[in-house]
Amino acid sequence: MISRVKGTQDVLPARFTSKPDAQIERWLFVERAAREAFRRYGFEEIRTPIIERTELFERGVGSETDVNKEMYTFADRDGEMISLRPESTAPVVRAYSEHGLFNQAGLVKLFYIGPQFRRERPQKGRYRQFWQIGVEVLGQSDAPAIEAEVIEMLDWLLNELGITDTDLLINSIGDGQCRPAYIARLKEAIFERLGALCGNCRLRAETNPLRVLDCKVESCQAYLAELPRINESLCEPCANHFTEFRRLLAQRGIAYKIEPRLVRGLDYYMRTAFEITGASLGAQNTLIGGGRYDGLSEILGGQPVKGFGFASGVERLVMSVPDSKINLDATKPELFVACVGPESRDYAYALGRRLRAEGVTTIVDLEGRKLKKALAVANSIGARYSLIIGEDEIKSGSYALRDMTTGEQNNLRESEIVDTLKYRRLF
Ligand code: AMP
Repeated sequence: MISRVKGTQDVLPARFTSKPDAQIERWLFVERAAREAFRRYGFEEIRTPIIERTELFERGVGSETDVNKEMYTFADRDGEMISLRPESTAPVVRAYSEHGLFNQAGLVKLFYIGPQFRRERPQKGRYRQFWQIGVEVLGQSDAPAIEAEVIEMLDWLLNELGITDTDLLINSIGDGQCRPAYIARLKEAIFERLGALCGNCRLRAETNPLRVLDCKVESCQAYLAELPRINESLCEPCANHFTEFRRLLAQRGIAYKIEPRLVRGLDYYMRTAFEITGASLGAQNTLIGGGRYDGLSEILGGQPVKGFGFASGVERLVMSVPDSKINLDATKPELFVACVGPESRDYAYALGRRLRAEGVTTIVDLEGRKLKKALAVANSIGARYSLIIGEDEIKSGSYALRDMTTGEQNNLRESEIVDTLKYRRLF
């Protein structure tokens, strides 16, 4: 049998899998909570294509970043280079420009939910196709209040999801004014220690020195701690921005840690960068990453636009949700309709249709099973009630409704069945 591609996964009803991040009930819980958070804070949904011109990411993400190197890229039949999107910020900014949204008064607040593709080495919490939920706030303002409000929303969302053991890490990575001088100093300091650093750091020293800062290799850590810190080299506007951002977090009672080595993996980030890590996740512990990217639109050839956003990995959110938050019963069918003999089948089909019109999840036995076998199926799919239909029932207009948990059985008319299910708040 052909199997799925390495680094991808199937999400199934929980009764078919014990792997938490492959259970659809958990995914739906996370998606619903996220949509509700976005609604409350005035975000609107955007769906961009999964394929984009490679150039969008080469320019937007930067050609020397990990994300760019991990892209799935192919030449289309007409020779055009196409990539599966590795992230959604560049596509959202492209769409914002392409549809002239810069003419809107006020901020444009968009959210997305969708798959991303990176050819990484798969491990727990790291896939080649993974889903992200993210937001982008785009417009002419770079007010730190935008950043604090987005983080306030995440705080609410994580609380709703029952994910409480998290840390908010923040940093400022400067801007076009102060960062070049810092990078020059950083490079110098890295080169002084080059021999002691890992192969990856040595490669990045030239191509992407900022990323050396977040190397996770154990033997590099002592050397990395000695490197100059970007938040000590900020120009005045960047320093003021960071101070105000922190004041607004404190005002909301949101705890944070300043992490001077926090940089974002992508070239276009500036000033505020943040991550939320989850204690229960293990090595891949970043739940959410985000930051400010005011220059991105111009890099893509669009109008100057200021932007701030985040992306969170859905698999990692799903894995972090405690079991107590998930109601696995909610997706179980309410009613299974079994027939005593062949003559009652047509009747059962019509009854099923009427019950569905009333809002009841109804599974009618289509396989013509004998009553005992049909009830065994009802049990195995977790139906909460079974309805038994035979000739007598059809004649009298009253059917046996059996509670599959208690075994209790009552003869009820059709309208009473609907009322009973409603009373039990099954739908
Ligand atoms: P990034 O776009 O790299 O900043 O990632 C944002 C978030 O997406 C991370 O914090 C993770 O939660 C998630 N993420 C990134 N890469 C992967 C991956 N390969 N598999 C699963 N989740 C990922």
